[in-house]
Amino acid sequence: MSLQIPPTHPRAVSLRIRQTLIEGWKRDVVTEAGLIAHGRGEAFDYLLGESTTPPAANAIEAAASSLILASYPVISVNGNSAALAARELVQLASTSDAKLEVNLFHRTEKRMVKVAKLLREYGATEVLGLHYLRATIPGLDSPRGWADPNGIFVADVVLVPLEDGDRTVALRRLGKKVIAVDLNPLSRTSQAASITIVDNIVRAVPRLVSEVKRLKKKDAKAVRRLSESYDNRKTLAASIRLMLGRLRQLSETSSGE
Ligand code: ATP
Ligand code: MG
Repeated sequence: MSLQIPPTHPRAVSLRIRQTLIEGWKRDVVTEAGLIAHGRGEAFDYLLGESTTPPAANAIEAAASSLILASYPVISVNGNSAALAARELVQLASTSDAKLEVNLFHRTEKRMVKVAKLLREYGATEVLGLHYLRATIPGLDSPRGWADPNGIFVADVVLVPLEDGDRTVALRRLGKKVIAVDLNPLSRTSQAASITIVDNIVRAVPRLVSEVKRLKKKDAKAVRRLSESYDNRKTLAASIRLMLGRLRQLSETSSGE
């Protein structure tokens, strides 16, 4: 039986997200480790104020322009991202002409099929990663290094929501532009990615969809300028400063002095 969350509960949104993940776990889409990883993300979301911050919006704009300019963009989908944003990831693939590839850290064939099925339920017609042919990303042990030879392996731009640091570093080494969605600006993924969206996937992906739609109407030069002028170091630093500022403010109002 699933928990009834009163809409007036001050933590209703966060509780609903947890409930969605638990349902994903019951469907074998999310693993126990995925539930724990979400908790780490939640802690950082608290510090961000649980909203899309200006640096995140800036990163989303750069990510949308990079997806539009890409010649072969691929969206990597793991258990948590499928459970939390399958519908929006399918929409993003369709609006940015990107491929969807299932890419699981805790990989079993059964889970691969379940994640793919969820994407298909939301209208995905092609889901990569399930093929028996596999390429191996150098620097990673198999099966963690497996990638679809028609997907991530040959992509020029890869969107990796909630990715592991090792894989992000390995993808960068292959020369790919890596767009990460990660609430923790300190993670190896955040630090290694080309564009880091420090935001919750449930907010970031719908916003990416609308940004791609908006920017597709602009001329190519303007889109290229947005992508080329983006500075990930500066944007990450701005996210960290924002968290610091909130902590400082809270420490001053909670000190009782
Ligand atoms: P890394 O391997 O990059 O150093 P890590 O080992 O600390 O990171 P992982 O478990 O590999 O963490 O990856 C999970 C990441 O996903 C965490 O950094 C966490 O902050 C982030 N995360 C969890 N839930 C969400 C979410 N809903 N939206 C965005 N990011 C999330
Ligand atoms: Mg990790």
